[in-house]
Amino acid sequence: MPSIDDVKPNELHHLYDLLAEVGVDVSDWPNYNGSNIRTNPRYCYKWSFVEPRKVVVLCIWFENMKIEDGVIFQDRNVRLLAQALDAPASGRALQMDRDIHTAWATGLPVRAIICDKNPNRPTRATKRILDPLPWSIAYYDEATGKCRLVRGLELPRFVDQFSIQEMEASEAKRRDRTGTEPVRKPEVKQRALDRAQGKCEFCCETGFITVSGQVYLESHHIIPFSEGGQDIDGNVAALCPNHHRQAHHGVNKDIIRETLQRTLSDIVVT
Ligand SMILES: [Zn+2]
Ligand SMILES: [Zn+2]
Repeated sequence: MPSIDDVKPNELHHLYDLLAEVGVDVSDWPNYNGSNIRTNPRYCYKWSFVEPRKVVVLCIWFENMKIEDGVIFQDRNVRLLAQALDAPASGRALQMDRDIHTAWATGLPVRAIICDKNPNRPTRATKRILDPLPWSIAYYDEATGKCRLVRGLELPRFVDQFSIQEMEASEAKRRDRTGTEPVRKPEVKQRALDRAQGKCEFCCETGFITVSGQVYLESHHIIPFSEGGQDIDGNVAALCPNHHRQAHHGVNKDIIRETLQRTLSDIVVT
């Protein structure tokens, strides 16, 4: 089982050497009038680097590492962080936001340079290593800059119903250990479908027509059984298939949940 200490840096390497190692072009570093090319201030304070069509390198702090189910990751929003910083740090943060977006949008490999620091000097790296494992961008929200960087997991960018089924199967396995799901009452979901009148209770679009001429929607427990949700009118919504999948697996699932809770609290009298 991986541990967060797997990525704790124990040596101090120069950025220059680590970048050269992963194939970032460092040929311009000697072009300045200092004696040590590794300290060229034009480059050595940057937070991120892109080598076009090759690699994106992100410098990240060990202190921001998290671990869940054996997966090491960081939830970051450097675009937001930039607002709290002054120049030149704010510019470096914004550049990193753009570079994360580049990695996300183009699928370039991501490498992480992990830095550790002395709490008394919060911006200076006292340890710096190149993580031997690749990283990936699990998601990037273009509207806000919120993103999740994941270690060692090259998640495919595009998924289908089978990928979702596998995710659900592993979720169900986890649930099984805590108890089985209660039985769903057919009259509850039928009342939801009748109430919705064929229109998705999230987007208001009409569901598709089946070969037998019926209008198809899917019933959905807004708060799932696994979180203590109940099989009652106020917790069961009727959704179009697209929004039903999103309610379970979409990056916007929290928004869908809140919207449905609000909508149903207005219309359902229990
Ligand atoms: Zn919908
Ligand atoms: Zn559902």
